[in-house]
Amino acid sequence: MNSKDLFERAKKVSPGGVHSPVRSFSSVGGTPVFFSHADGAKMWDVEGKDYIDFCLSFGPLLFGHRHPDIARVVHDTADLAWTFGACEPYSLELAEFITEKIPWVDKIRFVSSGTEAVMSAVRVAKAVTGRKKILKFDGCYHGHLDSLLVKAGSGLAGESSSDSAGIGEDIIRNTLVVPLDDENLLEKVIRTEGEDIALVAIEPLPANYGLLIQRKEFLQKIVSLTKAYNIPLLFDEVISGFRVGFGGMAGELGIEPDLVCYGKIIGGGFPVGAYAGKAKFMDFVSPQGPVYQAGTLSGNPFGMRAGLAVLKKAYTENPYTTLENSNQYFTQEMIGLLNKYAYWDNFEWEAITKASLFWIKQKTEKEVRAISSIPEGHKQKYARIFHAILKFGVYLAPSGYEVGFLSTEHTHSILGETLNRIESGLKQEFLK
Ligand SMILES: *Cc1c(COP(=O)(O)O)cnc(C)c1O
Repeated sequence: MNSKDLFERAKKVSPGGVHSPVRSFSSVGGTPVFFSHADGAKMWDVEGKDYIDFCLSFGPLLFGHRHPDIARVVHDTADLAWTFGACEPYSLELAEFITEKIPWVDKIRFVSSGTEAVMSAVRVAKAVTGRKKILKFDGCYHGHLDSLLVKAGSGLAGESSSDSAGIGEDIIRNTLVVPLDDENLLEKVIRTEGEDIALVAIEPLPANYGLLIQRKEFLQKIVSLTKAYNIPLLFDEVISGFRVGFGGMAGELGIEPDLVCYGKIIGGGFPVGAYAGKAKFMDFVSPQGPVYQAGTLSGNPFGMRAGLAVLKKAYTENPYTTLENSNQYFTQEMIGLLNKYAYWDNFEWEAITKASLFWIKQKTEKEVRAISSIPEGHKQKYARIFHAILKFGVYLAPSGYEVGFLSTEHTHSILGETLNRIESGLKQEFLK
């Protein structure tokens, strides 16, 4: 069994051979690696080669793969029940834990993915306001629901097109898209359209198009404009929730969003998403309110119990400072190696970091906070680095627009081993 053969077989039975596009390596080229198992900071491919994992399933694994404390809970759950489709105490315990610790969450509803969470939150906001438009920012990802796959068009602000075929004109027309980091344009759009806007949605830490760290003033401006026009504000914290700190970006910024979406870490590696917020909004959800939303596997015991174990561990052990320090150490050393070996004319690497997230890119004079200022040629240069170090067993996300993650299993010794592997990979690729 090897990855090449498996990928050929997979392409015959699934579109592009995958069940989520970025896994196909279409952004970096080559054949995707097929993995068979994982432990801590490492994954093993089907041929037995090991990789140090900095993709971490795109974010859920705060404590690495199969942490013993979480694994115990998962094994126990297998002996309790797999699914009830009925009331059970596990989702209650997770809901109580979150609502106790997070002040802007009065009530929470669990679903099975981040996409489903955002989709449901949008429906609630439309029902509460009776308005039909939503506003999003170019460079934020909110899952694959139709109305949020809309991107900015080439024309004026507010004009839009779509990131996917199959999305109706009316949906595109009702999604307003504005660039990140531009208070003036945002204000202009909200001034003209504000009375029709049911929801402003943002990733308070945009981490799906590189890592586009926003200015606090910009985020504050969003808060004041949405307040002025009575527009509910959704913080999509599917990546940043429980990752930048227990309270996510909302906690760090001291901003209380009306609605918040979680995913990734909240399920401890199992398929869980959640939408949550003030009772005034969440009481609109059925059966209490008129907004229908349901799920056969919602509140699944594996996700609920693993999620609670992860969140409790994060809350009590508070690994965030250690993670951030590891990230600083690792990315600085890695950038040193990249600048030593991965040389292009008039080009220098830098790492953009936040907590345990990182993004490597060309060094720019000004901070990159909107997609229009991402340096040209980024994708190709990233692809070359990606493959150079993949050969030596370092697995970064297979796209230059995805961020890297560290877990608590990325210890100093694992990071040291990683840096050795990176140096070997870069030497072989660039000194040949
Ligand atoms: C991953 C992600 C989603 C979508 O979550 P899925 O579980 O993949 O559907 C939505 N919003 C943000 C910010 C994300 O990072």
